[in-house]
Amino acid sequence: MKKFDIPFKFKSDFIRSIKEKRKAQDPRKKDFSPSAVKFKSIEILFARHFGFCYGVENAIEISYKALRENPNRNIFLLSQMIHNPHVNKDLEDNGIRFIQDTYSNQLISWDQIKQEDIVIIPAFGTTRAIQNKLEHLGVDIKTYNTTCPFVEKVWKTSKKLGEKDFTVIIHGKPKHEETRATFSHSSAYAKSVVIKDIQEAKIIGDFILGKIDETSFYDVFKNRISDGFDLKTDLFRVGVVNQTTMLASETTQISTYFKDIMLKKYGEDHIKAHFADTRDTLCYATNDNQKSTFELLKQEADLAIVVGGFNSSNTTHLAELCAQKFNTYFISSADDILDENTIRHFDIHSGQILEHSSYWPKSKQPRVILTSGASCPDSIMQEITEKLVALHDSL
Ligand code: SF4
Repeated sequence: MKKFDIPFKFKSDFIRSIKEKRKAQDPRKKDFSPSAVKFKSIEILFARHFGFCYGVENAIEISYKALRENPNRNIFLLSQMIHNPHVNKDLEDNGIRFIQDTYSNQLISWDQIKQEDIVIIPAFGTTRAIQNKLEHLGVDIKTYNTTCPFVEKVWKTSKKLGEKDFTVIIHGKPKHEETRATFSHSSAYAKSVVIKDIQEAKIIGDFILGKIDETSFYDVFKNRISDGFDLKTDLFRVGVVNQTTMLASETTQISTYFKDIMLKKYGEDHIKAHFADTRDTLCYATNDNQKSTFELLKQEADLAIVVGGFNSSNTTHLAELCAQKFNTYFISSADDILDENTIRHFDIHSGQILEHSSYWPKSKQPRVILTSGASCPDSIMQEITEKLVALHDSL
């Protein structure tokens, strides 16, 4: 895989040595069991795969290149480049400004953007409306476009589905930048609808089978269907794509669900005309990280620490998986480990940042699971390791 030029501050020799050892032992990535590292009195189980993915390293390389190549120009990012506050802050500290926040709220008005300015498209991509707006302003959006190729692959799949007259069902978080971008690109070629989970898939399934009426459908999806979506004709042929960082198992469940619905309605002989077998459109990094997390769930451990931005979709899924078995703490950096008893963490259920005292287990040789999302620098994982060891290894 391509090597990227990313700033030294995001790297870690310690983490690199763990990853490289595993890569040398298992170059074909068949073994997803964790890497166990023993310290004096604690053991840390690092997930087989974690940290920066291809798309994130690509985006970081391009953004810092834009800074180096344009010392005297205004440089903007459309919105957060990736969902990691430490990387985004470093970019801001270097002079990059964000035009919108994660929820599309305008931070800098469009009329402040001039033709000669640099605008970087983030790894999630952006909507066609924003692309058009920037092109109308005369801004070059190609030179520093960091849209991840795995996201573009989803757009291409949607286009192919549209060309064959299939409606695209997008499994994603409706407000997430990537899902909004995918919906926009998909809608240009295909009738499209965004669903956030299997429960919403079942509402569409019920409509297809005639169990609910149009009003019940529109109550849920009226703001998540493409222009001109016609319920009389647009749910005869469907295919499923996803936001690249969703839970693979849920996308598979949704896809299988729609196949079953179409089998029920049209029968085996006509299934190909009504259901497109797309396989899920998760990227390799999400797959690797989720498979590694399932292997973590086979281990015995006292607690799990998952590291990343609290708005990071892929990291949230890792935390959800770990929480199925372990006391799990979703943190952003070593600063969230406040002392030997107290940890500050993001509670995925309440959406709040909480402090938990007595998080550390009483066992003599605690085993700690440690993993991170695709937008978390390895340097942060090293700092967390060092802090855990400093606080607990000599107790
Ligand atoms: S998680 Fe996957 S789709 Fe998202 S930026 Fe990384 S490689 Fe690209």
